[in-house]
Amino acid sequence: MPKPVVAIVGRPNVGKSTLFNRLAGERIAIVEDKPGITRDRIYSNSEWLNRSFHIIDTGGIEVGSDDEILLRIREQAELAMQEANVIIFLVDGEAGLTSTDQEVAEILFKSRKPVVLAVNKLDNPERLNNRFDFYELGLGDPVAISAGHGIGIGDLLEEVVKHFPPEEEEEYSPETVKFALIGRPNVGKSSLVNAILGEERVLVSEVAGTTRDAIDTPFQREGQDFVIIDTAGMRKRGKVYETTEKYSVLRALRAIERSDVAVLVINGEEGIIEQDKRIAGYALEEGKAMLIVVNKWDLVEKDDKTAHRFEQQIRKEFPFMAWAPVLFVSAQTKQRVPRIIELVLKVAENHAMRISTSTVNSVIEDAVMMTPPPTDKGRKLRINYATQVAVKPPSFAIFVNDPELMHFSYERFLENRIRDAFGFEGTPIRLFIRKKS
Ligand code: GDP
Ligand code: GDP
Repeated sequence: MPKPVVAIVGRPNVGKSTLFNRLAGERIAIVEDKPGITRDRIYSNSEWLNRSFHIIDTGGIEVGSDDEILLRIREQAELAMQEANVIIFLVDGEAGLTSTDQEVAEILFKSRKPVVLAVNKLDNPERLNNRFDFYELGLGDPVAISAGHGIGIGDLLEEVVKHFPPEEEEEYSPETVKFALIGRPNVGKSSLVNAILGEERVLVSEVAGTTRDAIDTPFQREGQDFVIIDTAGMRKRGKVYETTEKYSVLRALRAIERSDVAVLVINGEEGIIEQDKRIAGYALEEGKAMLIVVNKWDLVEKDDKTAHRFEQQIRKEFPFMAWAPVLFVSAQTKQRVPRIIELVLKVAENHAMRISTSTVNSVIEDAVMMTPPPTDKGRKLRINYATQVAVKPPSFAIFVNDPELMHFSYERFLENRIRDAFGFEGTPIRLFIRKKS
């Protein structure tokens, strides 16, 4: 179930960034900030009344000539209309109604998306009456807020959440392996999707996903059900998609969210760039299984060490996912394309693997015996027991006398012992260090 998306639209200076920051709250840091993971803030997670959702940062509009501003707002509104489930149309209650507001309202009115009108900067009761001016926009009851002072935010979100689609049942059977090809434009994702599907028995052609930002194609291979979630094909159909890199990242993120396995596609001719890392960082943060596919291998001039060197380069650039298998393919010649599905299945199995508590404990006991935890100022970490608490990704709770005594390096050591013992190729694993109660 993809999270609903909320976009904030409005002319410059009405307080969009202020509202965004207020709604964004704290990001849940599942992964510590490790070198090599780049974050940006094109979206943020938020939660209200137990529904979590994304907010899109529609980006600052530089103040230019009036015509320019209007053009940008139009772009912003159109993107919001495509990407969001609900649009917050923000206006400035201090400045009052402007003609630009009216033009934005007209654009939004034509979309079929629900719009919640919020009048900002109503910091005190005296100003509250200003909101009545905005009925003229024809967008229903305005919600009075002060993003700056945090007033009315609950009322606003209550309206927004009303327009969310109902929470759906899971779309596919639990055994179905869902995967997405992610990566920059032009690395060959669509070509790979076609090459993969060309060799498999496609069950239904092109099922539109629950959202408009991906095409799902279910297929079967040797009795195993798969769904390929394709965002690249979608981008090619929409004209707006072509121009905005930022939104193709958002779409990739949403595809990742719905997948078990993220297949990161890299162009063998070009090597790794910053955006590849950013996308990989998202997949990691979402705890997805991952596999790195180097495409266009037919175009690379090779000797017997080229693949090895390229893999070393990948390991250096992605130190946080040393566990991800790397595969060199060509969508054009179909070289090793069938291997992609084999590896997707394998990493998906590892991602869903369950280990019995007794087995986990014997691995941890052996590890502690071999390398006892270091003492810290005379105090010694004691590990009582460990147990697997979740799958997708495999997550383990390790109960200790005092979590403060657990060193990052010792935690890393335990993680590696667990990996060595169970062979979690292609999946992140998580350790939670808990105080034994
Ligand atoms: P954006 O251009 O729409 O993203 O607007 P900003 O969030 O950058 O805000 C523009 C200006 O309005 C800033 O100086 C903010 O401090 C101010 N502002 C935002 N929200 C409020 C509010 O609720 N009350 C008041 N008085 N000022 C606000
Ligand atoms: P996407 O934007 O990531 O979906 O990339 P496309 O699948 O549209 O591919 C971009 C371009 O690269 C197209 O011109 C493809 O024909 C070409 N291409 C894709 N895969 C390969 C490959 O393995 N080898 C070669 N030589 N060209 C490829």
